[in-house]
Amino acid sequence: MRADADRSSASPAPTRFDHLTLGQRVRFGAGQGRASLADEIERMGARRAMVVAARDERALAEALTSGLAVAVLHDDVVMHVPSEVAARARRVAAEHDVDVLISVGGGSTTGLAKAVALTSGLPIVAVPTTYAGSEATDVWGMTELSRKTTGVDPRVLPRTVIYDAELTLSLPVDISVASGFNALAHCVDSLWAPRADPINGAMAVEGTRALSRGLPAIVEDPRGIGGRELALYGAYLSAVAFASAGSGLHHKICHVLGGMFDLPHAQTHAVVLGCVLALNAPFAPEAAGRLAAALESDDAVTGLARLRDRLGVPAALRDLGMPESGIGAAASAVVEAAPESNPAPVTTESMTSLLRAAWRGGVER
Ligand code: NAD
Repeated sequence: MRADADRSSASPAPTRFDHLTLGQRVRFGAGQGRASLADEIERMGARRAMVVAARDERALAEALTSGLAVAVLHDDVVMHVPSEVAARARRVAAEHDVDVLISVGGGSTTGLAKAVALTSGLPIVAVPTTYAGSEATDVWGMTELSRKTTGVDPRVLPRTVIYDAELTLSLPVDISVASGFNALAHCVDSLWAPRADPINGAMAVEGTRALSRGLPAIVEDPRGIGGRELALYGAYLSAVAFASAGSGLHHKICHVLGGMFDLPHAQTHAVVLGCVLALNAPFAPEAAGRLAAALESDDAVTGLARLRDRLGVPAALRDLGMPESGIGAAASAVVEAAPESNPAPVTTESMTSLLRAAWRGGVER
């Protein structure tokens, strides 16, 4: 699948589509987070803020919000928002009679602020410090008895997002890479997701371009601001594209694998993404050509594999603890869950060979 010059720079001709743009304010600037946040809180006329930040993020949040009218700082954050954790945070918000939620942290922290907004209608100002992208979506998630429920609600979309790359300098390189590869998966999978259209496609391609430059720069110079800024910019675009286009085959596969074998989330994405791209590229030449150009490669599959190797991301599901005996059951579950929009036919045979390749480490061409 070669990306010739014409095809790689071309955008798909707009035909008919129905696109919803979510409304939020985005303020971007390294070192500007504190001033931007103060300005936003004043503009909103808020007087009693609840700051949500996990324990690892607490120091960042305290520095960022000092001088603001903070009623309470809540650091009881747990990944995937267990329902009892959401209930405690909602109680704290009510007891302190807060009028705005300020989340400072990764997707888990943003997720908890969303859980409070979902029932209270309180506005959120989100200050993300990873590349998860939850701040740019109207999707909430909560876990009850190990079962994750998600939903879409306009109340959980942060009113304002403040991106300050300086706040991500303390994010360890391995977490930065895993989180960034997750964002890359949002971009790639958006191109063939159920609501893919030229607008979210443009964001996905530009997000791929930014992440594929930003992540290696972080690995090479973790204290450098340039790579962190590119990664944050790419992460925002990836989340907007994904929220708009919906979940494609890649995300369905990762969901099945995560649920069946309890595999680590970000690493599973990193392994599976190349296999889904190899499956779909021959059936989606335009998307593959645009991805290849964004990855600065003649070929999208090779470009992604090179990036993965450069970042030192795992390459095989067997290394993540998936048993080989689980391939058959997983393939059947993926066929059930696969979106109809997928360009390549999704059959038990094609999913079995894809998962076998992902298990061994490699791609099926
Ligand atoms: P995370 O929020 O759990 O953060 C990972 C770790 O990094 C945590 O220990 C955190 O405290 C720490 N951390 C964060 N920022 C830091 C910083 N600047 N310096 C040092 N440590 C820092 O992980 P994540 O990948 O950001 O988010 C994952 C969660 O987000 C999952 O639950 C996922 O389902 C959810 N998510 C939701 C959406 C959505 O649209 N609703 C989108 C993407 C992800």
